[in-house]
Amino acid sequence: MTDTPDLDALRSEVRAFLAAEAPTGWRDASRTQDDFVRTQRGWFAKLVQAGYAVPHWPATFPGGGRSLAEQKVIYEELAGADCPRLLLSFVSTYHAFATLHECASVEQQQRYLPRILEGETWCQGFSEPGAGSDLAAIKTRAERKGEVYVVNGQKVWSTMAQFADKCLLLVRTSADGPKQAGITYLLMDMKTPGVSVRPIHQIQGDEEFAEIFLDNVEIPVSERVGEEGKGWAVAQATLASERGLTLMELSYRMRGALSRVAALIRENGRQDDRGCLRDFGELVTQVDAVCAVADQFLDNRINGIERIGDASIVKNSYSRALRAYARLGLRLGGMAEQYIAPITFGDLNTGNWMADFMNSYAWTIAGGSEEVQRNIIAERMLDMPREPKAWVA
Ligand SMILES: Cc1cc2nc3c(=O)[nH]c(=O)nc-3n(C[C@H](O)[C@H](O)[C@H](O)COP(=O)(O)OP(=O)(O)OC[C@H]3O[C@@H](n4cnc5c(N)ncnc54)[C@H](O)[C@@H]3O)c2cc1C
Repeated sequence: MTDTPDLDALRSEVRAFLAAEAPTGWRDASRTQDDFVRTQRGWFAKLVQAGYAVPHWPATFPGGGRSLAEQKVIYEELAGADCPRLLLSFVSTYHAFATLHECASVEQQQRYLPRILEGETWCQGFSEPGAGSDLAAIKTRAERKGEVYVVNGQKVWSTMAQFADKCLLLVRTSADGPKQAGITYLLMDMKTPGVSVRPIHQIQGDEEFAEIFLDNVEIPVSERVGEEGKGWAVAQATLASERGLTLMELSYRMRGALSRVAALIRENGRQDDRGCLRDFGELVTQVDAVCAVADQFLDNRINGIERIGDASIVKNSYSRALRAYARLGLRLGGMAEQYIAPITFGDLNTGNWMADFMNSYAWTIAGGSEEVQRNIIAERMLDMPREPKAWVA
């Protein structure tokens, strides 16, 4: 895609905004979790005000209704600038938005979507200790009593749940019939009595996700998305966003971050090292391919084309390229890069190659593991034979 004069003007406008407003010092190794949250909230508010936080939302919202080409320009500029990724609000602006926009009632949309732009943050309560890849095996139980569901159970790996106001919650309302048929989708206020959140302390020092314990939590029936027992279909909207749209921005960020690898090659005097240049060339090609796949995915969605497996292709291409990016950076950085930055919250391009390298492995699992995405592509897209039942836990 080449820029038209309008796109050129938008690019200059975004660039000028970023030059004036992008936060500084956010990679500082001495920052605390409070610093992280403050920076994230402040930066999100500025992006909303400038109209660059939710270009993929409908035009009825400030900054929404952007064409694919305009979204691309905005993401490219954000990715290329030295500004933090919105780790605290991506579940809200992508996953919660997609779910509410595609599946919720008009009343729920009107209640929650504007609040996201005011800074209300969401987390995703899908995975459980016994249900990850096999998500339909969830056991968190919701029993209807009059106008409320009484919920008991446990969720795990909920990104940023300790800072969230609301939760996209999958619960089991029936144990009869196929596993998927007994699942219901609820919107839960994290301050409801009976909800407790325990952050998970990770090996690199930060607490990116948390466990959520639910003890007789009462959630009004009006907070249900779709019908009782039809939550599995609603969850697909959340998951498609997780594996598709979110990754478009991330792919551009990775392309922007290639300049860090190029800088390392120059700093190490390896401009004439053919092996190093070959590895870099392969990486650039791989990252460009990821961006092309992500563009195609978004283009298809805008045109109403939804193919099972497309989001899985974006997800797997991204996570493979991310590993290659981080591995090359770590190899070039040498011993000096063995130090792990304390607070990175699963970001890439943290300024610390070891942290990027470790975070790149989280992406083999986040949003559905690579193996399971391959199964989806093979079985549901390419119509290959299903995996033998005995292999499935
Ligand atoms: C960074 C990160 C953020 C996350 N954020 C959230 C969040 O916000 N909310 C949330 O609900 N969850 C979140 N998760 C959890 C994530 O969705 C699950 O970890 C994921 O679905 C895998 O489930 P599991 O951990 O139970 O592993 P398992 O399902 O037990 O898988 C273990 C291994 O077995 C393999 N495997 C399993 N089944 C098959 C099969 N049929 N064929 C071949 N191989 C198979 C998997 O590929 C994997 O390698 C997050 C995870 C990560 C890493």
